[in-house]
Amino acid sequence: MKFNLFSTNSSIENFPLYIIILLIVVFVIIIILFPRKNKLSSNKTKDDSETKNIKSNKTNNTSPPIWGIYNWFGKKQAIRNIKTIYVKEVEDPCNLCLVFEGTVISLENYGKDMITMNEAISKGYHHLGCKHIDIDYYSDVTIIPENKYSIQHKQTKYQLRLKHYKFEQKIRDLKYKLENTNLSQKKIQSFKKQLETEFKKMQYFLHLNNIQQNKKRENPYIDDVSKFS
Ligand SMILES: [Zn+2]
Repeated sequence: MKFNLFSTNSSIENFPLYIIILLIVVFVIIIILFPRKNKLSSNKTKDDSETKNIKSNKTNNTSPPIWGIYNWFGKKQAIRNIKTIYVKEVEDPCNLCLVFEGTVISLENYGKDMITMNEAISKGYHHLGCKHIDIDYYSDVTIIPENKYSIQHKQTKYQLRLKHYKFEQKIRDLKYKLENTNLSQKKIQSFKKQLETEFKKMQYFLHLNNIQQNKKRENPYIDDVSKFS
């Protein structure tokens, strides 16, 4: 038996050509007149007002009608082609980055419907000492976890982190002076005593707030990035 893959016995051929053309024209007119709004960002976890402002600036643009055609046929492809991440929550974020937690950020240079990484960085994200990490975000697949900590808890923790940095800075300064300055015995004894006192104060502070000591950061010769990481 011969199997015909290209069977022409189709009912569409029974239609007059002008009706088919008419239907296509009507279909195209409908698409142009009623463009679909492209919604790439689906983050609903943020209630922070600043983040809302950032988003509303990005999503309130009404697409020109021609984008309706693009979105209708190309939506899935468009989403797949845009590299996006979301910002994972940390317990002690600084105020600059707090607003970005749980937010979807585009890694493209230009973003129409969401904030781009360049824009986020210009607003302070990923600054020196930033503890945030970016997690791959796939539209309609990735579920952004609910925030675990309250804003107040995070701000308190961040203040503690800053206090810890201050203790470490004092300790680094005293260690540096002791090793690099021509000092009298009297001065040396005085600096040693200060160092001991600062160290004890820091130990007490760390114990009280259940924070781990970071010996690496107490080294007076570390670079600036390591001081805050
Ligand atoms: Zn950060």
